[in-house]
Amino acid sequence: MCKYVSYLLLRGPMRIRSLALALAAFPLLVACSAVAEKIGSSDADHTEDQPTYAQYKWLWADETEEEFKSIARAGSMWSDPEFFALDHPMAQRLQFWVDKMDEALRARNPKALASTPKPRIILRKDSDPNAWVSYIPVSWKVKGALARAGNAPAQPNVPSDAGADGATEAGSTVPRTIPTLMLLSTGKVAAPGSLPPLDRRFDDAALAELVKFANDGFAKCRLSTSDGAVVFGEGCAVDPSLSGDRSDAIAFYATGKWITVTTGLITSMLDEERIVAVLAHELGHYYRSHSIQPSDQLNYFYALGEGNKPEKPGADPRYVEQTLKVREKLRSNDWYVDYTEENKLMAEQRLGFYTTEQEADEISLEILARMGMPPTLGPDSQALLHKIVDDLSSGRGDTGEIKWEKCAALRERGFKDEAGQVVSVPVGNLSDPHHSFCFRVFNMQRELEAHRYQLAAERPRPPGEPWSKLLQRMQNDIDPPPPPPADAGRD
Ligand SMILES: [Zn+2]
Repeated sequence: MCKYVSYLLLRGPMRIRSLALALAAFPLLVACSAVAEKIGSSDADHTEDQPTYAQYKWLWADETEEEFKSIARAGSMWSDPEFFALDHPMAQRLQFWVDKMDEALRARNPKALASTPKPRIILRKDSDPNAWVSYIPVSWKVKGALARAGNAPAQPNVPSDAGADGATEAGSTVPRTIPTLMLLSTGKVAAPGSLPPLDRRFDDAALAELVKFANDGFAKCRLSTSDGAVVFGEGCAVDPSLSGDRSDAIAFYATGKWITVTTGLITSMLDEERIVAVLAHELGHYYRSHSIQPSDQLNYFYALGEGNKPEKPGADPRYVEQTLKVREKLRSNDWYVDYTEENKLMAEQRLGFYTTEQEADEISLEILARMGMPPTLGPDSQALLHKIVDDLSSGRGDTGEIKWEKCAALRERGFKDEAGQVVSVPVGNLSDPHHSFCFRVFNMQRELEAHRYQLAAERPRPPGEPWSKLLQRMQNDIDPPPPPPADAGRD
């Protein structure tokens, strides 16, 4: 299981090296003329009442509890993860909030959410404060083929994937068949990771939807069908470790239904409403199906300007070249790629960089307001987490440069300096889609000013025990109190 889409994950996903594409060789004009196509469209913007990016059923894995847990176990490096029962009062309380948010959104956007399953909460015993939506690998039994033109042919010396059939002798020119070709959200084709994909049924309509989804969303990667096979066009980057050109199945990461919340998130945040704001952020990832949304729809530089707009700003055409370059860096999936150049550019030119995390933050404010909770809980929640992580790691965990105390003071002043000018808040390391804590607070604050959400409903009142009792009960279940000594009651 991947913590890719977590709330405050401090490390990025493990990434896979890619082939360098010869983009730099194109003259700038060519790149500029293709701005709209290549570096984002309004589809990616956070505009109100667009909770989903696309509405196909297969975007969500809709996995059973057992399927989810088996993938969680497969993805766990050390001991098996421990989950609380679904009917644990704390799990039920968080589910109450998720249900309320889901209801409010569905009531307002019934068509957009018709194919989206209802999200579920699962509570994981883990002291690390975190929450995430999982990427669930899903496979379809349809043949896959790489166009491969412009890419290196399969390396005959690279060990083939386990269980590969149809593999030929080294040096043979016959295309090698491997079990699965996996399409990533970056428009790159790779071998599946270590998690076994869930086999899912599909039909011709779903196949046509997948082709359209990819071709509408990726800047260069094009899909087509031919002789009953899905063909990954030559614009799709190909992971160099792929040992074959053909496959018996294709796979992708669908969005998992079970939203994981760690006990550590609850015991460190303690405040119910701020935890609800974290859930709203996770729902942003969930509804927008970030596990598979083409990353070319996001990941662009935009001008920060004086404030956010009700419609998110598009890619800044002055920085097309830099956007294309940074996307190639991100496609390389290398944690150690250096982003000093981009950080300098952003500070000097007052640019932001739009990511899935930013989209989830912005949607979370809308979701909170629709449910009838003050959307200021978004930045409040982020500020609290900033403090928690600063305290836990002496500030090392945050990729930004501004510490909690200074950020709180800046927020107090509306992020303006003594002269009334908007201050520059560093975005942080671009290899992590989570921007620095202070930038996230800053951005959400500006979102609130731009949207001026009206609280649509009455504030939901959760039934059951008071929050403090639930906390106590959960704490007891994490660390059961020792049994009374055998001689209890004696002098
Ligand atoms: Zn997130």
